[in-house]
Amino acid sequence: VTGMTDRQVAVLGLGRSGLSAARALQAGGAHPVCWDDNPAARATAEAEGFSCRDLTEGGAFDEVAALIVSPGIPHLYPTPNPVVAAALRAGVPVDNDIGLFFRSFATGDWDNFDTAPRVIAVTGSNGKSTTAALIHHILTDVGRPAQLAGNIGRGVLDIDPAIDGEVVVLELSSYQTELARSLTPDIAVFTNLSPDHLDRHAGIGGYFAAKRRLFAEGGPDRAIVGVDEIEGQFLAGQLSEGAADDRVIRVSVSQKLDGPGWQVFARKGFLAEYRKGRQAGSIDLRQITGLPGAHNHQNACAAYAACRALGLAPRVIEQALRSYPGLPHRSQIIAVAEGVTYVNDSKATNVDSAAKALSAFSRIRWICGGLEKEGGLAQLNAASDAVAKAYVIGREAANFAMQLDVETEICTTMAEAVARAMADAEPGDTVLLAPAAASFDQYDNFEQRGEDFTAEVRARLAG
Ligand code: ADP
Repeated sequence: VTGMTDRQVAVLGLGRSGLSAARALQAGGAHPVCWDDNPAARATAEAEGFSCRDLTEGGAFDEVAALIVSPGIPHLYPTPNPVVAAALRAGVPVDNDIGLFFRSFATGDWDNFDTAPRVIAVTGSNGKSTTAALIHHILTDVGRPAQLAGNIGRGVLDIDPAIDGEVVVLELSSYQTELARSLTPDIAVFTNLSPDHLDRHAGIGGYFAAKRRLFAEGGPDRAIVGVDEIEGQFLAGQLSEGAADDRVIRVSVSQKLDGPGWQVFARKGFLAEYRKGRQAGSIDLRQITGLPGAHNHQNACAAYAACRALGLAPRVIEQALRSYPGLPHRSQIIAVAEGVTYVNDSKATNVDSAAKALSAFSRIRWICGGLEKEGGLAQLNAASDAVAKAYVIGREAANFAMQLDVETEICTTMAEAVARAMADAEPGDTVLLAPAAASFDQYDNFEQRGEDFTAEVRARLAG
């Protein structure tokens, strides 16, 4: 981190990103002053030699140059965080690790393309991790140095400073884009928009506004925008206005895009790229086994478009897509036994992502439930044709089950749900964990939930 030498910088939240911000600030000659409501988190920071101070106390911000807030901390909604409020009252700018990263990371201008490092930032409601991992995979596969960070893998301030010709691929959540005071990627990707995290953004308008900040004035030279929702269409329209015709690449999996611009879309298992009315590339996505379902075709289109914006050839991208290994907990096939396929999609933490998972498979024994998100489950019922039966887990299983139109069984625990689904499954069925809910009622995070599912399935198959 540059520009903060000898200044005090307050760090709120001492999880992974907070600690990495503190370290980066210190490495840059600043003096981090740390705080977390949780004494155990403070003890960890103190053990590393950082000093902690209660930032809600009067005068705490007197000598402080900025407040760096962790993405896990609700800063404004549903209720204002007292430390953030104190900083604002004292006139201290509020920022996060992403803002520090962009401020310290000098990107070259676009025309210096072959030598300057590039930053690609991916945001959207669903498919961020998959798209970011895909871009990183393609670049690595073609031998272009690349680093993956942000909401996936390493914290942005933990990565090595980029070298010339290197690409830094960032996955950014709405929590991260909302707070960052600098957001200047060379290429920005907007995958799609559906309701999520509405409590913290005070509704969908705030949520969309947070994501859109990545595309604000002075933002990306190139934008890849999913236009299957009205918000994406709106964003693409605004970004194209008065811009060069290669600034925006529109992406769709619901329609054949036409027009004079640059577009990438998938239909019936094929990806097509058009530029200035002419076909510029195509890929048979049915051959890419690591990316099942239309939702993954959307991710493939977005990753393809980002790599095209970097100048890679279609054939090279296709070759790399074939060796994509997939990410754990996202449409991950964990076993196939006696004709039954077992899929771990624990990352389907909201209704839209779960609906997409349901449309990617057939004859589904569907394990779902958990901590319900705002907005209701109606969209799931529209996508539930392929569901043979739902096995509902979670502390509020009965309430969840009540809202589903399909046949349901209340199982509460993962062990019970897996046992019941396996007992019912017949050859040709898919046992799918796609919870459509957060995991925090029963697990620390979605990874733990997916691991529990995987372990239960494997134990039963082995026994
Ligand atoms: P994110 O990082 O945005 O949460 P992931 O790539 O981790 O996205 O995928 C999260 C879940 O959303 C997956 O488990 C999958 O079911 C679903 N999903 C993946 N890509 C898409 C997409 N393009 N549109 C809708 N749902 C998707």
